[in-house]
Amino acid sequence: MKQLVIATTNSNKKKELEKLLRGLKVKVLGLSDVNIEVPPVTEDGKTFRQNAVKKALTFSRFINGLILADDSGLVVEALDGKPGVRSARFAYTGAKDEENNAKLLKLMETIPADKRQATFVCVAAIAEDGVLLGTQEGQCKGSIGVEVKGNNGFGYDPLFTPDGYNRTFAEFKPAFKNRISHRAEALKKVKTIIRGYL
Ligand code: IMP
Repeated sequence: MKQLVIATTNSNKKKELEKLLRGLKVKVLGLSDVNIEVPPVTEDGKTFRQNAVKKALTFSRFINGLILADDSGLVVEALDGKPGVRSARFAYTGAKDEENNAKLLKLMETIPADKRQATFVCVAAIAEDGVLLGTQEGQCKGSIGVEVKGNNGFGYDPLFTPDGYNRTFAEFKPAFKNRISHRAEALKKVKTIIRGYL
């Protein structure tokens, strides 16, 4: 069976991606399973797509099989799209989720409830041997709360309530988030590309 390596060092993203890849006829591995040194990838793209493609292509030059990379983040309308591609390092490079959340809450302190719309975006890229096979984007629209709520998930999950619900992603069971999330939408589409390629 062909191997598919999930190219992320974020263990939370890896867990979600593993579940979302179920049903594909590939052997899903993480970076720690292949144990091959890959030079660090600087995420200097202006878009999620640029970063996802850069990660997938770079890893695919060093690791055999299919490489799946995702670049994702939170786009807040009232902050002109911030944190955007800088979501992981919003407070500073290497910041903890709690520090990024605290910065977001501070910046949005004076923003009223009806202006707190935000979108989670995920672009998934799939590559093999230095060739890009495709990219797909998923989005999940919602709003940002005024305090953190819930213990599940990661990143901005405790602040994000998807439209149509009254709980944050961090208050949902992981399986439910995995049905409606930006990552779920992107992966559903990328799985079609992979199936067509196998
Ligand atoms: P990346 O690893 O460069 O793609 O950064 C992704 C960052 O975006 C994460 O560290 C989180 O801060 C944020 N993010 C992306 N997806 C999610 C999600 O599903 N929930 C919460 N935060 C997310």
